[in-house]
Amino acid sequence: MQFLSQTTPYPDETIESYLLRLSQDNGYLGFADMADILWDWLVTQDHDLEGAFPNELHSVDVYKASQSSNFRVRALRLVAQLSGVEASGLLNLCWLRSNTQFGAITAVSRGGLLVPRQLLRKSGIPVCTECLKRDTHIPYLWHLRAYKACHKHNQQLTRICGKCDAEIDYRASEAFVECECGAAIKQGPKANQADLKLANALAGNAAAKLVGLLVWFSQGQSISFDDDEFSELFVSYFSNWPNGFEDELSNIIELAIVKQLRPFNHTPFRDVFGSLLKDSKLASTDSQGYNTVQLAIIAFLIKLVEQNPKKKHPNLGDLLLSMLDAAVILGTSTEQVFRLYEEGFLAAAQPPKKNTFLKPSNNVFYLRQVIELQQSFAPNIPNNQQQFVPPW
Ligand SMILES: [Zn+2]
Ligand SMILES: [Zn+2]
Repeated sequence: MQFLSQTTPYPDETIESYLLRLSQDNGYLGFADMADILWDWLVTQDHDLEGAFPNELHSVDVYKASQSSNFRVRALRLVAQLSGVEASGLLNLCWLRSNTQFGAITAVSRGGLLVPRQLLRKSGIPVCTECLKRDTHIPYLWHLRAYKACHKHNQQLTRICGKCDAEIDYRASEAFVECECGAAIKQGPKANQADLKLANALAGNAAAKLVGLLVWFSQGQSISFDDDEFSELFVSYFSNWPNGFEDELSNIIELAIVKQLRPFNHTPFRDVFGSLLKDSKLASTDSQGYNTVQLAIIAFLIKLVEQNPKKKHPNLGDLLLSMLDAAVILGTSTEQVFRLYEEGFLAAAQPPKKNTFLKPSNNVFYLRQVIELQQSFAPNIPNNQQQFVPPW
């Protein structure tokens, strides 16, 4: 078996878009029609592939094949063979699962770009009508929730059908320029400037750094990517970075001083700052070193400790950190923090009782000591003057 028409993938195309074009070029009634035939053929080649190829465009991407992504990859290799394209050419169109995480959020990757899974659109894929007039295919950028305007044509992507009010989704309509109801998709209005800034940044080299910040901001400020104000708020927040963020942290401290119940050397850092350090992990993957947010936090905490030198009377420099939070500041693992404790680099405010172990969540390390340790030998010591240059 071989496809008569050999469709060539666009480098920025999604796998769903490619398979839809392949089915159209070869005169199938729809994707499901082609998938049925493919399914039968794949199983005759390899029994393991039973069910490895879905007949819904929605479920085709590799990261969606939960237990069987290896079979999905194998099936796509065979499809590539039938289409006369390199297997790698087809697999490069897919979002793949990754072991990497942005904090607690799993990442998917495409062509080396790691993206928090939350950033992918689930329902509805908006489109740029001008792009579709030139090369009819869906670029992966349109699958990102924060990409709302076309950076090439300076116009908003069209999200809603003007006729039936439904969300545009080529995976449901199996058409590029029409809604599921059959109406032609209308051109979007001129781009909103903040949407355009984010779109340009996502299309450029800054994307890798930006995707984590988007998630961190969305969670921290409790604002959905889909909110119309999202880009505006994000751009203005980071245009004033890190000053606005430092003001927030300063306010938290002022409040802590007013509400102080216990001496600060008995107060967990978390009681004052909440999950600030844990949440900062959302802004990048573990392998990327300190991220923009962590650099700003550490610079702030260094100043805090400097302004609160060790005195007889405990102060904010004596707040208590858990092993988990200390690991964020030191840019290392909790195991390493434990070793630093065992080897005497860090003292515990209260040593664990006999026959008990120090738990990662126990608040036992002095902020002051951890910061001093960070300044003395953690890698990439952040510069106090560090300024974030927004990617636009
Ligand atoms: Zn466009
Ligand atoms: Zn419609």
